[in-house]
Amino acid sequence: MYNTRTKIKSLLHSYTLQSTVTIMGWVRTFRNNQFIAINDGSTNTNLQVVVALGMLPDAVLKRITTGASVKVVGTVVESLGSGQAIEIKAESVEILGDSDAEKYPLQPKKHSLEFLREIAHLRFRTNTFAAVFRIRHAVAFAIHQFFNQKQFVYLHTPIITASDAEGAGEMFRVTTLPMDGTAPRNEDGSINYTEDFFGKGTHLTVSGQLEGELGAMAFSEVYTFGPTFRAENSNTTRHLAEFWMIEPEMAFYDLEDNMNLAEEFIKYLINYVMQHNADDLQFLDARLAEEEKQKPTAERQEMGLLEKLRFVAENSFERINYTEAIDILLNSPAYKKKKFKYEVKWGIDMQSEHERYLVEKHFKKPVIVTNYPKDIKAFYMRLNDDGTTVAAMDILAPGIGEIVGGSQREERLANLEARMQEMHIPTDEMSWYLDTRRFGTVPHAGFGLGFERMILFITGMTNIRDVIPFARTPKNCMY
Ligand code: ATP
Ligand code: MN
Repeated sequence: MYNTRTKIKSLLHSYTLQSTVTIMGWVRTFRNNQFIAINDGSTNTNLQVVVALGMLPDAVLKRITTGASVKVVGTVVESLGSGQAIEIKAESVEILGDSDAEKYPLQPKKHSLEFLREIAHLRFRTNTFAAVFRIRHAVAFAIHQFFNQKQFVYLHTPIITASDAEGAGEMFRVTTLPMDGTAPRNEDGSINYTEDFFGKGTHLTVSGQLEGELGAMAFSEVYTFGPTFRAENSNTTRHLAEFWMIEPEMAFYDLEDNMNLAEEFIKYLINYVMQHNADDLQFLDARLAEEEKQKPTAERQEMGLLEKLRFVAENSFERINYTEAIDILLNSPAYKKKKFKYEVKWGIDMQSEHERYLVEKHFKKPVIVTNYPKDIKAFYMRLNDDGTTVAAMDILAPGIGEIVGGSQREERLANLEARMQEMHIPTDEMSWYLDTRRFGTVPHAGFGLGFERMILFITGMTNIRDVIPFARTPKNCMY
């Protein structure tokens, strides 16, 4: 019987005056013992319910408090108040669940994001987080739609993995061996993982790419979209220990094809949200504008959220190679005035401050940096003819820095084996991977898009903890 209710978003979108509807949701505010603002999570627009004076006994009125859940049956009427087209003239109001006004942490006022992070289990009930997580949902849906339209196969790569050669980050070990010092040991005192659950050492995945490549060698084009784990002990606003990544992998693609796909993909996601989540974006746009007003003029962003999204969707990303990027940094006023904390010279792994300088100060748009020194990139990236750089590409986004990391893969068996030897990666354990190069190898490429970083970009939020429902970061694992 409960699901005969009407969702507020649908009702506001299409209604018949004088019809009777059932609404269920949570009370946001109750004014003058008369006006209940109800929210059911379908939209940030609350539905106003008008209770005629004298209609409800005092005992019920008292229970209509912020946070309480209610069922309202009533008539759709034109609203006299400004700001909404319709309201509900209540015929009955039933309290489904009480909420003690003294104890309910979410008061009808502005709370700080830091405070809301402490009560992440309730923060979905705020306008900001409701908008963020509806958008997160929409982007996830759009990702599948994008690849499905292009006939990519969604491949589920393993979460527990025994391949530890990727070198993408520190890994979380998965084991059932006892932690009390009684685990079986080898003669040299190290733990004997042959006695462990899988008969070998295993970890949570840091990337599905290597397995993605196996799929691409059969389906031509695949993508993964799943959780990824990195035990990065860095407390930044852009790193989580558990995050979601989208990793397409395409046979018969070179670096340029790869960049084209990544750029099209990012623009598609932005356009999708602008089309389907316009009201939530508008809300976040206004929210960000308000935040920016609190900052000194010099620190304010030049564009509002919507303006930025439109700009990115409509303009080509800048494409430069790594060497050019370093030259720009070396010739920058910021470098000359010693504004960078970290060293700049050819060969560095660019720090966030460098990436952000390129994007926010120099080009003022997303930038794709290509052809990095091989020594700072993974073993599987294709060696360029110069012998010192690889066909890598990172996409840097305003306000975020790196949002995509990708490359053309080394498809030549001899080159790949040589590179693995140089980097002390055991080729025998990776025989399954090398088989892709032994049997019908092809030029291929792929990239990883950090899902939460994309959501940061689209929502204008600034801390990655605020765009994943339950954040996992060093010393923090609630729920
Ligand atoms: P960074 O230099 O920012 O740590 P990375 O070089 O380690 O990134 P990749 O290994 O290329 O990143 O991973 C692909 C993408 O996954 C990145 O471009 C980024 O969007 C995202 N990503 C990487 N690490 C994290 C993390 N700890 N939390 C959230 N997203 C991440
Ligand atoms: Mn990293």
